[in-house]
Amino acid sequence: MQNNQPVIGRFAPSPTGPLHLGSLVTAVGSYAMARRLGGRWLLRVEDLDLPRVIPGIADDMLRTLESLGFQWDGEVVYQSRRLDAYQAALEQLIRQGIAYPCGCSRAEIALIASAPHKGDGGLVYPGLCRDGLASEKAERAVRVKVYDEMISFQDCVMGRYSQALSASCGDFVIQRADGPFAYHLAVVVDDAASGVNQVVRGADLLSSTPHQIYLQKILGYPAPTYCHLPLVVNPDGTKLSKRDNAVSLAAGPSSAGSGAGLLLAALRFLGQSPPDQLGNAPCREILDWAAANFDCTLVPRRSAPLEPAHK
Ligand code: GLU
Repeated sequence: MQNNQPVIGRFAPSPTGPLHLGSLVTAVGSYAMARRLGGRWLLRVEDLDLPRVIPGIADDMLRTLESLGFQWDGEVVYQSRRLDAYQAALEQLIRQGIAYPCGCSRAEIALIASAPHKGDGGLVYPGLCRDGLASEKAERAVRVKVYDEMISFQDCVMGRYSQALSASCGDFVIQRADGPFAYHLAVVVDDAASGVNQVVRGADLLSSTPHQIYLQKILGYPAPTYCHLPLVVNPDGTKLSKRDNAVSLAAGPSSAGSGAGLLLAALRFLGQSPPDQLGNAPCREILDWAAANFDCTLVPRRSAPLEPAHK
């Protein structure tokens, strides 16, 4: 990112459930970091994975954000309305010879990708269709070729992160044959189209970032800066259930209760020290404090529970 460019940050929730504590923390962190630098803060609804999208939830999320005092710049972008842009990027990669159709099933890949080649959590695609789809095979996906290079970036919170895609996943899917574009492709196309140059999001997406940096490179897009925030977990370190996790203003998490309580709890979770008197302030005032004072060098790396704010 060039130093003299105005900052453009964003918050990109998936409407698969009501706004949860993890997304609230991401909203607060991304908002504060963009505004701290006098930047714009955009909102994008990531409703591409239609089977998982719950009708009405996107509106519910926007209302919750509004009631917490958030103000975003410009129109909300909906990924479900941007399929043409993803298709154009996909065609560009096919023309460049970097993307190719693949006819392999998961079972076939599992058979060939023997244990030592397994990537973190998934299988490493062994490249069977790289040089052309076998004639008896139907297309199941479009993949991009990856090469044996280390992708590294400096994350504002998590520090240096490196991954060789060839070892962790191999050529990866950017579109499934049944239609949907992969999250990595959509995010990269959308961030570039909106001029986003600061990505602040949850640490669960840290290991997705090399895929996205690689796509930016082959599509000729500039790379944003990255900041991955710690995740909100239960006191014993396990993932929060949907029920414990929902941001409900009526009865907040562990009775953090009010909007102000939630915002203060999120800021403290991110290592910031908002003054106690803000507990009685309107939400907007708390966000203004965050925009003026947020210091990303104080954000901890470790996942932790969200402690309720004491008023
Ligand atoms: N939609 C993703 C989520 O809700 C965030 C994607 C991103 O920020 O790049 O976890």
